[in-house]
Amino acid sequence: MTQHNTPSKGHVIIAGAGMGGLCLALALLQKGFDVDVYEQSPELREVGAGLWISANGSRVMEKLGLKKELQAINLDPEDRVIRFWKTGEEYSVYNRDAKDSKVDHTLIQVLRAELQRILYEAVLKLKPGAVHFGVRSVGAETVEGRARLLLDDGQAIEGDAVVGCDGAHSRVRQSIFGESPARYTGANAWRGLAPMSKLKPQHRRALASTWVGPTAHVTCYPVQRNGEQFVSFSAQVDSEVWQAESWSERGELSDALKDFEGWNQDILDLFINSENLFRWGLFVRDPLANWSRARVTLVGDACHSMTPYLGMGVNMTFEDAYVLARCLEAQPADIEAALRRYEVARVARANRTKANSMDMLKVFHDPALEQIETARQYIEKNWSPAVVRERYDWLLAYDATTVEI
Ligand SMILES: Cc1cc2nc3c(=O)[nH]c(=O)nc-3n(C[C@H](O)[C@H](O)[C@H](O)COP(=O)(O)OP(=O)(O)OC[C@H]3O[C@@H](n4cnc5c(N)ncnc54)[C@H](O)[C@@H]3O)c2cc1C
Repeated sequence: MTQHNTPSKGHVIIAGAGMGGLCLALALLQKGFDVDVYEQSPELREVGAGLWISANGSRVMEKLGLKKELQAINLDPEDRVIRFWKTGEEYSVYNRDAKDSKVDHTLIQVLRAELQRILYEAVLKLKPGAVHFGVRSVGAETVEGRARLLLDDGQAIEGDAVVGCDGAHSRVRQSIFGESPARYTGANAWRGLAPMSKLKPQHRRALASTWVGPTAHVTCYPVQRNGEQFVSFSAQVDSEVWQAESWSERGELSDALKDFEGWNQDILDLFINSENLFRWGLFVRDPLANWSRARVTLVGDACHSMTPYLGMGVNMTFEDAYVLARCLEAQPADIEAALRRYEVARVARANRTKANSMDMLKVFHDPALEQIETARQYIEKNWSPAVVRERYDWLLAYDATTVEI
């Protein structure tokens, strides 16, 4: 067993160096805890995809001191629009400047790998060597008042608390709560990254768009890497054929073009010009009523993986991480109580988001979207300012850095 010296505020062991693991590590280091993060991949994985960080997630990034770094990798959208699948006819929905909405509708549009890099670099500034790559965990337990992360080579890493930030297939979750079977939602997802230089001029508009059709929708927006611009897109399509629940399964262009037959050429061009194409099945698990057991808890997709329809997965993960760091800071001498406090603060909100995100599929895919005559009315009804406010304001207004815990 590997032992670490325990500093005054405590030593937290984290499984997974994704969005949640790195965000939590940074928040805890800033609050005076020691952390070690164990990541199964041999290095930071490049998952070629964009991410939307909305106001609730960006408040956490700002509190962590990453505002300048985020601005450097962001491509700010001029507008958020819903577009008709055949013609691209567009409707402004996000009312960023609307006087009747007090909620910040800012969207930060970044490449996932760039976001991971800035979190990683910030962690290393505070603790070089905090992230251990190529270490796969298989579970966690609490033994005689100490938390242990169990590794696949039979070793265990001991600390004051263990946090499973190990994604939707979390081994930490399985070890404390047992198997939770994943159910197919009836939809597959495609994603890709098309270099702007290969696309027609209309793609250069700085729009955050969701194209909606009767059985599929496509969200696309510009992102950048080292000054090179891309359109990041993710497309969800109803399908009886199951794909694996894995973000790294390659897809075939011919299958994508079949799925999007009849769609506007601008959408087909994204698939045709993408530097990579991935396809995976969208699955859901039952919501968990508890996330913690003794000195072990969960953050992010490990405890509430959700469909991407509200763009809230990473935002909820950042909220979890910051609230957990605050709970541990408030009660460093009673870790079990701190983890219970974290659950009380977070479970209901995350589960509500997960449920609402699932319900959005019915909104995005509807027979009324087949023809423009019925689609206009449908879009105006489902993305009216009042409906958008009801759907998003409670999500966006939340401040994980100040919310009562
Ligand atoms: C294409 C795509 C687009 C998305 N867009 C958005 C968006 O616009 N807005 C939004 O809010 N959310 C979005 N999401 C969701 C968001 O990416 C996730 O909700 C978020 O990454 C969850 O963070 P996490 O830390 O829980 O998991 P992850 O970021 O997946 O990290 C988990 C980490 O744990 C590691 N790991 C797994 N198992 C083990 C193990 N046994 N031992 C050690 N390490 C392990 C993994 O290698 C990985 O590094 C998107 C997701 C995808 C796939």
